[in-house]
Amino acid sequence: MNAVLEADVVVVGGGASGITAAVAAAEREAGVILVEKGSTTGGAANMGMGLFAVGSTHQKAALVDFDEEAAFRLFMEYTHWRVDARLVRRYIAQSADTIAWVEKMGVEFLGAYKYFEKSQQTWHVVKAAGSSVPAERAASNLYRALTERATELGVDIRYRTKATRIVMQDGRAVGVDVVAEDGSETHIECNAVIVATGGFGNNPRMIEDKLGYEWGRDLHSFRIPGVDGEGLGMLWAAGAGTTTPIMELTYTSPGLTDVYKTISETMRQPTLMVNLDGQRFLDESIMNNTVFTGNAVARQRRRVAFTLADDGLLEHYRRAGLDYVTVHHNVRSIDAWDREVQAYASGAGVASAGLSELHSEQQKSERNFWVCNGLAEVAERTGIPLAALTTTVDDYNAACRSGDTQFFKPQRFMRPLEGPTFYVARHFPAGYGSLGGVAVSDSLEVLDADGLPIPGLYAAGTDACNIFGDSYCFYLPGNTMGFAVNSGRLAGYQAVAYMDSPDF
Ligand SMILES: Cc1cc2nc3c(=O)[nH]c(=O)nc-3n(C[C@H](O)[C@H](O)[C@H](O)COP(=O)(O)OP(=O)(O)OC[C@H]3O[C@@H](n4cnc5c(N)ncnc54)[C@H](O)[C@@H]3O)c2cc1C
Repeated sequence: MNAVLEADVVVVGGGASGITAAVAAAEREAGVILVEKGSTTGGAANMGMGLFAVGSTHQKAALVDFDEEAAFRLFMEYTHWRVDARLVRRYIAQSADTIAWVEKMGVEFLGAYKYFEKSQQTWHVVKAAGSSVPAERAASNLYRALTERATELGVDIRYRTKATRIVMQDGRAVGVDVVAEDGSETHIECNAVIVATGGFGNNPRMIEDKLGYEWGRDLHSFRIPGVDGEGLGMLWAAGAGTTTPIMELTYTSPGLTDVYKTISETMRQPTLMVNLDGQRFLDESIMNNTVFTGNAVARQRRRVAFTLADDGLLEHYRRAGLDYVTVHHNVRSIDAWDREVQAYASGAGVASAGLSELHSEQQKSERNFWVCNGLAEVAERTGIPLAALTTTVDDYNAACRSGDTQFFKPQRFMRPLEGPTFYVARHFPAGYGSLGGVAVSDSLEVLDADGLPIPGLYAAGTDACNIFGDSYCFYLPGNTMGFAVNSGRLAGYQAVAYMDSPDF
């Protein structure tokens, strides 16, 4: 170990939760060192658009009839009370104030949005410079403002510096070992450590071990560089108790989603979806709840599903527009359909959104969209048995006339598929990243295997995000970034309170 530094608080990871924790601790007059192994703050959240809050001035101005109590009740019913109600309550209680807090740092919000019809208007979408409409990656402005505030408060941000170990002494966290890009090692002595390293979304081995998916085969989740599970490993090595992590699941058509946006959005409408055995398995009107759909796809054979459209359906969309329009893609019409289908068929490609390794991998992936002349070709392309597929399509078309008594899909989405040309997309489970892994208290103290706080050790954001039970709660959109920012803020305050407490 070459050098020794000192700080009151060391924050490991400068993403959504880490940079927020650093600002919070520094505002309470702690000397903070933040180590970030990448070359920027914001982490995965730079890809995002906004965060959860309830009771904000934006919601009040928009007459949103959804308050803290309603959010808390929804949260706890959704999770069957299997999560920490105290932490959920604290998070919700702080959320509106956090919006006001970052607004004082110069962050602007476009307002509070839903993600899909049945969700609540909790997604506070950050305004991107020079734009008056929701824009992908707009949240990076929030992290820029927090970073400026951190710098103003004297936080020592060390980029390209990786934490490798939490140093423990007499059961307390008292330091962090870090290594810089040039290989030089430093030991930072401190009074409290906040770990905020964003989970293991970029670590295929952990994804397989902890979640049972093989990345690139039956899971096509984002792989944001940097989130390799190192923080969880360091916390477990320091004696932290474990929780069962989950993937923030959604679904995708590799090579299509986020690239050929019109085809992709069209094939994610509530049309017929079948599994590899040619069976329906969901009320397709839930397809705009990407978590529920991801869950349903993930439990099918080989974790795969297909949606079908035909010219009759396309004609309807041409006339009436798409049923489901997402805030982030905002594809309303299918005007670009023919152009994109030609580009996809020729392999010409469309400029990729380039969001992460996922998208570069997707460019190489096998085809996941076909134009088929009749159901026999659909069967041949997809591997679905023709007889089963034909029966399902016939039954579905009959249900379009009489009503869907199988899964009760609302009649307004029941549109027959008669061909002769069928458009088929293949879908797999996808995800934004992992959630959870380390046990924390409602003050974000890291708990040991016995459930007792480890003095001086805190975790925030994805590493500590155990508040959703088995599935991310998309009814309250903006919730993972909301938890990251709010847990970071709470952890920052708590770390300072710990140093000021008689226990210290
Ligand atoms: C495409 C995309 C869009 C999204 N959009 C939204 C949205 O609109 N709303 C929403 O609620 N959520 C959204 N999310 C999820 C959101 O980004 C995460 O919930 C949030 O980033 C989690 O914050 P975090 O601080 O836990 O991790 P991150 O923000 O990922 O930060 C972790 C940081 O830790 C650093 N790090 C890791 N290991 C070390 C180490 N050993 N030493 C030093 N540094 C280390 C990493 O480099 C990284 O910078 C989106 C995610 C993706 C991928």
